[in-house]
Amino acid sequence: MDCIFCKIINGKIPSNKVYEDELVYAFYDIDQKAPVHILVIPKQHIVSAAYIDDSNAQIVAHMFEVIAKIARELKLNNSFRVVTNAGDSAGQTVPHLHFHLLGGRDFSWPPG
Ligand code: 5GP
Ligand code: ZN
Repeated sequence: MDCIFCKIINGKIPSNKVYEDELVYAFYDIDQKAPVHILVIPKQHIVSAAYIDDSNAQIVAHMFEVIAKIARELKLNNSFRVVTNAGDSAGQTVPHLHFHLLGGRDFSWPPG
């Protein structure tokens, strides 16, 4: 499949890996928007958060477990932001579900 994140998972595109298990892959975003900016993605190709359903919700729950584990390992002091953009209005640029894990600075609310 012609998906850059699927290619990152299978090693066809190099990435700076943070974590990997049978369900999830995590790596540093190429365009860091915070001192820590990691993308957590499912190995299964799910297009976006709009496509989460009963068939894949357990994977998504596991992604959040991984996010908390990475945040502990990177000593983010239980303070970080998780963002997912779904579709054009939200500015999604890669159509493979990903959670941005952002930390290491203060964030404003609401987002733009
Ligand atoms: P979105 O805009 O869909 O919410 O997030 C996509 C993210 O993927 C962007 O933050 C962008 O910097 C990142 N990205 C796009 N291509 C690559 C790549 O080849 N490698 C890495 N590490 N990140 C990428
Ligand atoms: Zn994909």
